[in-house]
Amino acid sequence: MIQLKNVSKIYPNGARALVDVNLNIGKGEFVFLVGPSGAGKSTLIKLLYRDETPTRGQVQINGKNLVRMREREVPYLRRSIGVIFQDFKLLPNKTVHENVAFALEVIGVSKREVRNRTRNMLELVGLAGKEKAFPNELSGGEQQRVCVARAIINNPALLVADEPTGNLDPETAWGIMDLLFNINKRGTTIVMATHARAIVNKMQKRVIAIENGRVARDEEMGGYGYDV
Ligand code: ADP
Ligand code: ADP
Repeated sequence: MIQLKNVSKIYPNGARALVDVNLNIGKGEFVFLVGPSGAGKSTLIKLLYRDETPTRGQVQINGKNLVRMREREVPYLRRSIGVIFQDFKLLPNKTVHENVAFALEVIGVSKREVRNRTRNMLELVGLAGKEKAFPNELSGGEQQRVCVARAIINNPALLVADEPTGNLDPETAWGIMDLLFNINKRGTTIVMATHARAIVNKMQKRVIAIENGRVARDEEMGGYGYDV
């Protein structure tokens, strides 16, 4: 589903974020990206939803070449990819319901369907009853649940997450991981960058370690590594 071929990314300031990365990730996989700060994890994630393009090499998702993709095609790509960030990035002046519904409204879903699907999704992530709250009225865990709802309401084939539990206490983090694992079970491919050692070690999923912009380790049922 995801193919990176000889991908390098050098930022305009000269930072070499990724160096000759080759990766294949299959449909339905759950992949943790680990590695030190500044290793290139966020950059790799950004290539997947075409927030960045590589300096060299090819990025393909479901056979689509993201490097040659035209700007006007990018919105269509993004509809098939859910994105979750460490810092939530919810719209502060919109309610929980509106934040999630927005993702459907922009693709022209009927009002009635938007209402129903949003309600079902908020129930699924355990936020029934919070529809009218604004993001700043929610706990961190609740805000991240809204983000998960927003990211998956279009049934994306791929969900990418950059440190989704980074701002959450361990118990709340496990709640978010439960959601992600259930989403993965239903067939969505997930790529998640994380520093959450305990989560990676417990889950025994594929682990790809990035160090200095290179793939340093790639293990099925791997562990976090970097043990102190
Ligand atoms: P990680 O997510 O593993 O912490 P990043 O992908 O954020 O790593 O960063 C990899 C390298 O690229 C770092 O040296 C970082 O400073 C640099 N970098 C990341 N984003 C940018 C950017 N927008 N402009 C310039 N350099 C960047
Ligand atoms: P995280 O550690 O959560 O991945 P960062 O703090 O590395 O996030 O990056 C935050 C933002 O700053 C990102 O959009 C990234 O592209 C940008 N960034 C990171 N490093 C640099 C850099 N050296 N120069 C310019 N922008 C950067």
